[in-house]
Amino acid sequence: MSTLEIRDLHVSVETKEGPKPILRGVDLTLDSGHTHAIMGPNGSGKSTLAYSLAGHPKYQITQGTVTLDGEDVLAMSVDERARAGLFLAMQYPVEVPGVSVSNFLRTAKTALDGEAPALRHWVKDVKVAMEQLRMDPAFAERSVNEGFSGGEKKRHEILQLELLKPKFAILDETDSGLDVDALRIVSEGVNRVKENTDAGVLLITHYTRILRYIKPDFVHVFVDGRIAEEGGPELAERLENEGYDRFLTPAATA
Ligand code: ADP
Ligand code: MG
Ligand code: MG
Repeated sequence: MSTLEIRDLHVSVETKEGPKPILRGVDLTLDSGHTHAIMGPNGSGKSTLAYSLAGHPKYQITQGTVTLDGEDVLAMSVDERARAGLFLAMQYPVEVPGVSVSNFLRTAKTALDGEAPALRHWVKDVKVAMEQLRMDPAFAERSVNEGFSGGEKKRHEILQLELLKPKFAILDETDSGLDVDALRIVSEGVNRVKENTDAGVLLITHYTRILRYIKPDFVHVFVDGRIAEEGGPELAERLENEGYDRFLTPAATA
């Protein structure tokens, strides 16, 4: 069992006008095997939270702590965080021209494990995972994210998740831009990972739609850089009916 603990996290983002405070005291504890949904309006700081956990240099931690099984995550480099078991699927994945999906996955796996995966098993694992995600085998030879459709980018993120087997997966708007069929396939992938690896999942989303396929254990409403309310799955249903309006303060709508 692993625990990712976020305590009183304050984060500013670098802008041309100087640092701008975005996160204003986030408290959240994730355990293996549990799925937490973070739901909030656009601009509330959800991606900032994801990037801060992943170690993006643009985001300055000004206060608070993040630990993974007691280890100081904020003191770790991006690579060290990945090796410690953190995985971030970005809202806008970056293109890596000239690096094939197949090479990228193998390099990432090797970096994580400290040794190259045994080729026979690896080739089979990749093949099976791609089939389950209904991905064309030819996809493996394309450059990472280059010219990928929105749906292909998301499937590729879940393919990484299935093969890299992190302790905690942070999925930032994995549902955005997916049609219903792709949403179901991607969600099934996340559910397989949950079942097979007991990963903790932090599912960041603006819409309740994905929560029909991936059942959260806890729901946190994120507004203006902090958690405004939390509860069980029933909270997502309330949000579906009522929207975010009642959580919005004048500061959040300014
Ligand atoms: P969400 O993911 O909830 O839509 P974000 O974390 O992307 O929210 O953004 C939160 C706030 O931080 C927004 O007001 C956004 O404009 C601001 N912000 C995020 N990144 C930057 C940046 N690089 N430069 C300036 N402002 C930023
Ligand atoms: Mg957004
Ligand atoms: Mg975002």
